[in-house]
Amino acid sequence: MTKDTGLQINPKIKRLVCSASGQEVETAGFRRPIGLCSCCPPPGKPVVVEYVLDQVELGEPAREKGVWSFSELLPVVGPEPSFASDVGLTAIVELEPWSREAGITVLAKNEGTNPSGSFKDRGLAVGVAFGTACGAQRFCLPTQGNAGVAASLFSARLGLPGCLVYMPEGYEDGLYHREARYFGAEVRFHGSNIAAAGRKMREDAAAELASGAYVDMSTFFEPGRLEGKKTMGLEIFQQCGADNLPDWILYPTGGGTGLVGIWKAFQELIGLGKIDPARHRLPRMVAVQGKNCAPVVESFQAGLEDVRPVESEGTIADGLDVPGAIMGHGILRTIRESAGTAVAVSEEEILARFADCGRIGVAASFESAAVVAALHRLLANGAVAHGERALLLLTAGHLIPLGQRRVPGWD
Ligand SMILES: [Zn+2]
Repeated sequence: MTKDTGLQINPKIKRLVCSASGQEVETAGFRRPIGLCSCCPPPGKPVVVEYVLDQVELGEPAREKGVWSFSELLPVVGPEPSFASDVGLTAIVELEPWSREAGITVLAKNEGTNPSGSFKDRGLAVGVAFGTACGAQRFCLPTQGNAGVAASLFSARLGLPGCLVYMPEGYEDGLYHREARYFGAEVRFHGSNIAAAGRKMREDAAAELASGAYVDMSTFFEPGRLEGKKTMGLEIFQQCGADNLPDWILYPTGGGTGLVGIWKAFQELIGLGKIDPARHRLPRMVAVQGKNCAPVVESFQAGLEDVRPVESEGTIADGLDVPGAIMGHGILRTIRESAGTAVAVSEEEILARFADCGRIGVAASFESAAVVAALHRLLANGAVAHGERALLLLTAGHLIPLGQRRVPGWD
């Protein structure tokens, strides 16, 4: 497989470690895919990649390379340009009407221009490539959103067997189902939520997962997705410069891969000597959730070290309907290390800000609208001060919410 695709393990990987214990994880020469750690109680904790930073050259962004512009800081190198040259390198634009209104600088990084329409493409491109370089033959995941679509798209681009996608029963014939099928996925339905769908998937594919033929691409179950999402942080650094980083980064937090990934990028940039924390102020990271499902916000406010799962009451922002977080310890660590915060917004606020986005011509998903709502809260309570710069991570565009259901109060 590796010979056909040209994919190779990055020789500048130093080691893999458990995100919870810090213990080194055995890679066995990457002859099989890497999953969760075995040092923590089952099912284990997420594994993260470290690089030999004094040998790494940070590449300049190049459109023909997409996220592989930063290949020395990715676990896998050598994809054909057609695999992911259209992934990443998204624009950061200032939203002047909101800057003027709020007396701050409002910046937006718009991820809706990725090939499958969301930021999920970054993590799944790298995760699928990394798993393939480790000898996997097929990818599977439970999903209630764009991750399944992205995994299907990148499986198709490598000519792999269709991605095996499990969705909750209510998702049949919905937009995500139709999109995953379009990219060749085999889609199965089980249970009432993503956790139940995931359990069924691990039961059905137990033998293939155990042998390493399949990779479980669930959020944080393998290390590649985090590395792909990290490229958002590398780009923010390249686009803004070390002297002009945003004061705040607001991020809609479901599983939290991007929040943790952006912060990992900044730590690696410090290791590379590109950012000097004594001179450059790092952004404060804000986790944004919906009030109806806010495990990170509640656990942050309670001062916990890890995220305590909640019972979701359901939210129109599918990407935020994540009642537990396997990387909860990493999310809370990121918020605290960065002197950031966590904000929960109501369904009404999400819908109101979704309308605001359309009004000024911003292509926003409901998750992106939640981030706009969170900025208004931080302005109202004085956390974001006059003259500061806030970067909103707009994770997907308007077509996803508008394409899958009637928007309440809209039609
Ligand atoms: Zn562990």
